[in-house]
Amino acid sequence: MSQYNPFENAQRQFDGAAEFLGLDSGTKALLRQPMKELHFTVPVKMDDGSVKVFQAFRIKHNDARGPAKGGIRFHPHETVDTVRALSMWMTWKCAVVDIPLGGGKGGIVCDPREMSDGEQERLCRGYIRQLFSQVGPCIDVPAPDVMTNGQHMCWMLDEYETLAGGHYPGFITGKPVALGGSLGRTEATGFGAVYMLCRLLENLNIPVESTTASVQGFGNVAEYAALLYTQLGGKVVAISCWNQADGCAYTFKKAGGCDIEQLRSIKDKFGSIDKDKALALGYELLPGGDWLSQGVDILIPAALENQITPSVFPNISKQVKIICEAANGPTTPDCDPLVKERGIWLIPDFLCNAGGVTCSYFEQVQCNMNYFWSREEVLDKLNSAMIKAFDAVYELAVNEKLYMRDAAYSIAVRRVVEAVKLRGWI
Ligand code: GLU
Repeated sequence: MSQYNPFENAQRQFDGAAEFLGLDSGTKALLRQPMKELHFTVPVKMDDGSVKVFQAFRIKHNDARGPAKGGIRFHPHETVDTVRALSMWMTWKCAVVDIPLGGGKGGIVCDPREMSDGEQERLCRGYIRQLFSQVGPCIDVPAPDVMTNGQHMCWMLDEYETLAGGHYPGFITGKPVALGGSLGRTEATGFGAVYMLCRLLENLNIPVESTTASVQGFGNVAEYAALLYTQLGGKVVAISCWNQADGCAYTFKKAGGCDIEQLRSIKDKFGSIDKDKALALGYELLPGGDWLSQGVDILIPAALENQITPSVFPNISKQVKIICEAANGPTTPDCDPLVKERGIWLIPDFLCNAGGVTCSYFEQVQCNMNYFWSREEVLDKLNSAMIKAFDAVYELAVNEKLYMRDAAYSIAVRRVVEAVKLRGWI
């Protein structure tokens, strides 16, 4: 169990921003915790005839700027504090890219890798039955996150629409295109992170083709980040991911560069690469934590929170110039000073991985119009939104000599405070 509590981390980051911005005590008290929390259980009839009761959460941090927005995670180690932190980060994420949405998050303590499709469907439907009155296109809009995907969104949508007695495609995002999803949504989070990475490289005058990277995770975000990065000429030297059968993570390494298309063809839908097939293809198999100690220019943590801590920081190669936080909360607040001190550029999580929710917003817009854009149009709009948000943060960081995370917090919190004030809440 990690010694780090993600909610305490999120509060610590916010407190720093609140102090920097000189927020009054009422505003601070409102924004340093979620506005509404739902804790409930979902009973599910399992295939063997038994009943299993799952602990579930949906948390709204703040909806001053628009309906709460955020994914639903399935994870055996999910905790209420992780969901609280993630809901808070969603508020800043939507604000930093300036989309009219608030922050929310959901979680179910479960391991979908150990459940049949039928059991997962009943869990999804049960979750929505419990939440029905508290979610909706104008209230709180879920989406996929760790270990949830488009199929889970379809079951949730169908349950919601059955209860509502009508079609409400804007209720949930990350849907498959055949059911009102947006082209480009699957790639959006990973691509968005790489759009920003390339913008940073451009500012630093480093050609992407000359760079190498090491990636943690091979779920949806990591997969598409690695794919676009290599298509643009970068070289991914190592990828670390979880192996469910062995109960540990491994780092897959190919000094000449990983073939992302090849690795995609030997991974499961939860982002685990088949160890035996990778060995047969000539990959070196290293301990999971070794992704961090590779002699590369860029680290892309794209898995879970609390991965880059002061205790592992000394393992990071002196060659590393950029940390591209594609995951939520991968670096702990007590490690930020070390990153800063070494002069590593860090693209902070809620900016770096905002491509997913930005494309979710596009999905809602398309659903509302009932008119859908081409993939090219979606990705063009996504690219512009990412670059605009990145440039604002980068400029503030350079002009005020701020760490990028502090600059991003400053912009995001300021926007949320403005909305909260305009509503007369404070
Ligand atoms: N779960 C993703 C995130 O953490 C996407 C959220 C969404 O699309 O609403 O940003």
